[in-house]
Amino acid sequence: MDIKTIGIIGAGRMGAGIAQVMAVSGFNVIMMDVKDEFIERGIDNIKKGLAKALEKGKITSEEKEKAITKIRTTTRLEDMAKVDFIIEAVPEIAELKSDIFKRLDGICLKKTILSTNTSSIPISKIASVTNRQDKVIGMHFMNPAPVMELVEVVRGINTSDETFLIVKNLAEKIGKIPVESKDSPGFIVNRVLMPMINEAVFALMEGVASAEDIDRAMTMGVNLPIGPLALADLIGLDTVLSIMESIYKETNNPKHMPCQLLKKYVDEGQLGKKTGRGFYKYPK
Ligand code: NAD
Repeated sequence: MDIKTIGIIGAGRMGAGIAQVMAVSGFNVIMMDVKDEFIERGIDNIKKGLAKALEKGKITSEEKEKAITKIRTTTRLEDMAKVDFIIEAVPEIAELKSDIFKRLDGICLKKTILSTNTSSIPISKIASVTNRQDKVIGMHFMNPAPVMELVEVVRGINTSDETFLIVKNLAEKIGKIPVESKDSPGFIVNRVLMPMINEAVFALMEGVASAEDIDRAMTMGVNLPIGPLALADLIGLDTVLSIMESIYKETNNPKHMPCQLLKKYVDEGQLGKKTGRGFYKYPK
């Protein structure tokens, strides 16, 4: 399959990062969000990301200029009619993703692969609303997408071998390392990561230690590059909560029940780095 144009649904933290990766790799990108202001924020983040990549010597200034010309934007899902490949990165809400996939199934060409960046919602569930279950797959980038090397490739029950190979090859083409995961709650990364973040929040709530010391213990003591609470702030506490709730709902196992303190932060709109405050404060 010759992929030239990639449609990205959602211009948030992940959508913008993935758009940047794809544009730098030479693909044409159409990035969609529901409001102009969200698109502007996404483009702004891409420009910042490209500037960082230039600073680190990962791209040349020519590549930086070229990448930005590769990205078109829209607020209309209908503009995805001719793209070769979709990556959906809207919030982690099962009904929202299903609604978008249903609409995309009607809008996109029959050959177009519909992939989702979901962290925890079953691929088969998302695929079930389409008439192309063989062409629906999980392509789960890590955050920040331009920096992190891993991509989890997740097959739904009816995903074809052909679709799987196309996505695996695409991941390699953009310089990522693909790993295959079963369509199991949280896949690999979040199945292991979320219980650790949740336990860190419980430790904070129970007054075991300060946020700084919990993170220091896990970075200095376990050699993690970032502590679990700082990582949760980076992911976004709303996203962390949605992922935990989704894994809990799928497994029905109380060990995955999110800590009340996390819910409290989300209720208060303290969502982490993106709102300037989570477990830590961030300068605006
Ligand atoms: P985000 O909140 O930063 O961005 C979501 C974007 O989707 C927002 O800009 C929002 O306006 C837009 N959106 C909402 N409804 C839409 C619609 N109907 N059509 C088009 N756009 C719409 O969220 P995020 O952190 O980028 O997460 C997106 C997805 O990626 C989620 O499924 C999440 O689980 C997954 N993910 C997140 C991370 C992370 O660390 N944040 C890592 C890997 C995967």
